[in-house]
Amino acid sequence: MFLSTAFATLARTKNGGVATPERSPESPVVPVLAPVLVVGAGPVGLSAAIALRSLGVPAVVLEADGQNRERPGSRALFVHRESLRLLESGAPGLAGELTGFGVVWHTKRTLYRGREVFAKTYPAPPADAAPFTSLRQVDTERFLRKACEQAGATVHWGARVSGLRVDPDGVEVATEDGRTFAGSHVIAADGARSTVRRALGITMSGGRSAGFHTTVDIADPDFPMERLFHYHHPALGSRHVMTVPFAGGFQVDVQCAPQDTEARFSTPEAVREWLPRVVERRHLDHILWISSYRFNQVIADRFAEGRVLLAGEAAHLFPPLGARGMNSGIADAFAAADAIAIARGAHNPVRAAAAISGYDAARRSAAQRNNAAVSQALAHLRPRHWHTTARQRAAAALSSVVPRFGAWLENATYGPKTTSVRSGRY
Ligand SMILES: Cc1cc2nc3c(=O)[nH]c(=O)nc-3n(C[C@H](O)[C@H](O)[C@H](O)COP(=O)(O)OP(=O)(O)OC[C@H]3O[C@@H](n4cnc5c(N)ncnc54)[C@H](O)[C@@H]3O)c2cc1C
Repeated sequence: MFLSTAFATLARTKNGGVATPERSPESPVVPVLAPVLVVGAGPVGLSAAIALRSLGVPAVVLEADGQNRERPGSRALFVHRESLRLLESGAPGLAGELTGFGVVWHTKRTLYRGREVFAKTYPAPPADAAPFTSLRQVDTERFLRKACEQAGATVHWGARVSGLRVDPDGVEVATEDGRTFAGSHVIAADGARSTVRRALGITMSGGRSAGFHTTVDIADPDFPMERLFHYHHPALGSRHVMTVPFAGGFQVDVQCAPQDTEARFSTPEAVREWLPRVVERRHLDHILWISSYRFNQVIADRFAEGRVLLAGEAAHLFPPLGARGMNSGIADAFAAADAIAIARGAHNPVRAAAAISGYDAARRSAAQRNNAAVSQALAHLRPRHWHTTARQRAAAALSSVVPRFGAWLENATYGPKTTSVRSGRY
């Protein structure tokens, strides 16, 4: 029998742990030919399939949307060095494809109420040592899809997962259209509203920050390679404004004020009114996408249950400060693939279970550290204490004589540089 979101069968011990079958030490814990089922073909699911294939594990991806779907907008622009390294380890040449298409900005500038407080231009990195790359998520996914197919993963489009059954020997997943798929494990990368997470009854803890941001993508292949953060932009009612280049254009991101509403600030008409106050008027003819988003900070109470591992936004949601959303999801994907490969190879069920619970502990702890880093950035961007605002104002005033004050204003908007998790930065 299959579960809908209300159904998941897990063999449990009396104390709530996942039961492991009685086996002779020689017998493998799962049939080695069974694939791993990856639910969701977003960037995290595709990365998981690439990682699994690089370990020689068969991977079947089940994606609710059709093959020709068009996902909107820039969303996660920034692919960090750590993610590039992981993706390259899974699919040699993939990092080069991403960096070949994406852009690297060489100049970072910070303004405070219209006055420059920080500017730094870096030498262009060698082609094979890009510190990051910036491209629209739709483009990143295009490269990941190609790599996934080349690696031999099977992708079923139009396969919306509606339920799953987990038992000591494997997993079975049902789709809305009546198909079933069997596998050794599931990587649930089905996004923020994860069906798999709900089916397992795993709850999310955390909250939502006040306020919202509006982002506008603009096509401009000649946009200068400069990332600009403007505190209290004088032409936009003292709202913070950031402009970030991506391959083929740039994004304008506005931290909206407490009195703003999405209905009044984020509509195409509203954007056409305020956009020329922060960028040249000619850009009005090249708007690609407008969106608004709120800052969620939630983390799943468990990242793994038996043979099911949650990854990416199925497991955690962070504000995009420091680009921790997709990048930490890619780290989850590779860690999940590693854990499953160890579990599949283990001849001892206790070791297999330990690999999965190790994933749970390591990636939940990484999520908590990312969350703490984001909270630090938010406390800077949306100060709740007068002394934070006073420090920022003082730092801006003194930045021309004490450059490190300008550097502090530049860096603090993204949170601490490293979250020092054992398995990597994210
Ligand atoms: C409007 C918006 C703006 C954003 N801006 C930024 C940003 O500026 N910076 C940043 O870092 N991040 C941003 N993000 C977040 C970023 O897009 C996510 O971090 C990233 O997409 C997470 O990847 P994922 O693979 O975990 O989930 P998703 O990309 O959501 O992928 C989940 C996949 O699972 C599929 N799926 C869902 N349910 C099922 C099911 N039942 N069965 C089968 N398949 C299913 C979905 O169709 C989808 O393909 C933004 C997101 C949005 C929506």
